Amino acid sequence: MSTGTARRLWALDGARLTLDRADMLDGAAPGPVELVVPSFLVEHDEGLVLLDTGLAPEAADDPVGTYGELGARVRMTPAQRLDHQLAAIGVHPGAITHVVVSHVHFDHTGGLRHVPQATFLLGAGDRGAVDGADPDIVALARAEDLDPVRDADGLVVDGDLDLFGDAAVVMLAMPGHTPGTTSLLVRLPDRSVLLAGDTAHLHEALEHPAPMAADTVRRDALASLQRLVGLAHTHDAVVWVTHDPDDWARFGAPGEITLPQDRRTR
Ligand SMILES: [Zn+2]
Repeated sequence: MSTGTARRLWALDGARLTLDRADMLDGAAPGPVELVVPSFLVEHDEGLVLLDTGLAPEAADDPVGTYGELGARVRMTPAQRLDHQLAAIGVHPGAITHVVVSHVHFDHTGGLRHVPQATFLLGAGDRGAVDGADPDIVALARAEDLDPVRDADGLVVDGDLDLFGDAAVVMLAMPGHTPGTTSLLVRLPDRSVLLAGDTAHLHEALEHPAPMAADTVRRDALASLQRLVGLAHTHDAVVWVTHDPDDWARFGAPGEITLPQDRRTR
């Protein structure tokens, strides 16, 4: 089989969520960290792939009404809504062919309503949250976000999935944070990038792999983090820890992304 590349990668801005570093990585020094809650758009000859959908649009106007107590930790402008981010780069939501949700937690599902026509791709272990059957995952999932995809054209992905059969866009099974957590490998013409999703929450987790407070299965989470680091070497890919504010700045997001060429960068 021949290998190909995606054409372009866009980072779409999203809300900020202030949490404690020590809750994001066992062993990290305590103190507030303002996580980025972004989405990503990958343009490939065969389709347009959205990774994650950020917070719900109503959170821009009323975060506490939307998320309760947790909403007090949210900062979101109307421009950071997914539908407005897509409009800003001239992409009609109807043009999106695939939506990969890295896992079902609320900070990844808020914009699913904007892309109900796309093929919905989810790690098999998280299916129980969509069905409402798995109480462990449901705790951080927001049921109304998942309504648009309950009967959607979708694929439950068991293991890894090469979306277009050319190794350009690959969902990678990274169970642990939730049972169905995935990361996304994107091969671009100049370089490859591993979009971590919530396999890691802080970039320092790559140097000091450890679970974090909300992981469903801690031992699996550690193994997945180690897999992520190994795959970065195998593919000579940069790892973008998508919630990490320093990575957001390092990759020059938001907008169309040109990956750094420094081979020491991981
Ligand atoms: Zn998250």
